Amino acid sequence: MNILDYLELSDRLKNYLLLIEKETGLPVKIFQSQDLGIKGARAAFNYHPDYTVVVLNTSEPRLSADVERSVAHEATHGYILHKLGFCRAVFTEEATDDVKKKVNVLFSMVDDLTVNRIIPEHGFPPFGSEYLAMLKKEIEVASQGETQGEEFYSNFTSDMEFEDIIMVSRYILAWGFLKYYPLPSGIRSTLQKFLDAYSKAYPHHYPHARKVKEIIIKRNVFTAEGECWAMQEIIKLWGFEGVVKTVSTKDIKF
Ligand SMILES: [Zn+2]
Repeated sequence: MNILDYLELSDRLKNYLLLIEKETGLPVKIFQSQDLGIKGARAAFNYHPDYTVVVLNTSEPRLSADVERSVAHEATHGYILHKLGFCRAVFTEEATDDVKKKVNVLFSMVDDLTVNRIIPEHGFPPFGSEYLAMLKKEIEVASQGETQGEEFYSNFTSDMEFEDIIMVSRYILAWGFLKYYPLPSGIRSTLQKFLDAYSKAYPHHYPHARKVKEIIIKRNVFTAEGECWAMQEIIKLWGFEGVVKTVSTKDIKF
């Protein structure tokens, strides 16, 4: 079901979605699903060659400002693929659904840096009201040590490799906000507290986060060229290069 008609969208969001449709030449579709692949996930972007597809999990109540920001965020994933030619993952037949899920989170981790930088230009905050509350919880969890940390993140998946990828993406998200966005000093110090606690608490995950960070700062990942290069390197870190290719959406449409 296309739920676009059922959501009461603000004029700001309607205009932004129209702009994305105009720039990409593709309609934006919003669907509803209870399962977005990660437990607790509330919104997702799905690649389709002819549409920008946003999927919302509406099973839990959220502030309308957060829903609006989520829709703007996910639709912007379509914009950077279809308009800016960012890379996406193309899988071989051997790739399992598990690997696909993991690689998609790795892409989001890097693409979110650009997406969260674009949406404030159109009046949406870089993160929603739920983010800081979660970050404070994550600081608390990290201060209790790695076992407690892993237990906390295992709420999102029972697969240990996927858990590692989710943990790394949490680090990169917070680090990216601190490095690339102008934010009030109170928020900056909370982000810094999380990064400090994380690097101390998680000796089995922080080295992966650090390697990803090193790759991201080597090139300009806010450009298609830089993102495509970084994604190739990050996919190699987890050994997925045999089953996935990074393909610019400008070169191949299918
Ligand atoms: Zn995203």
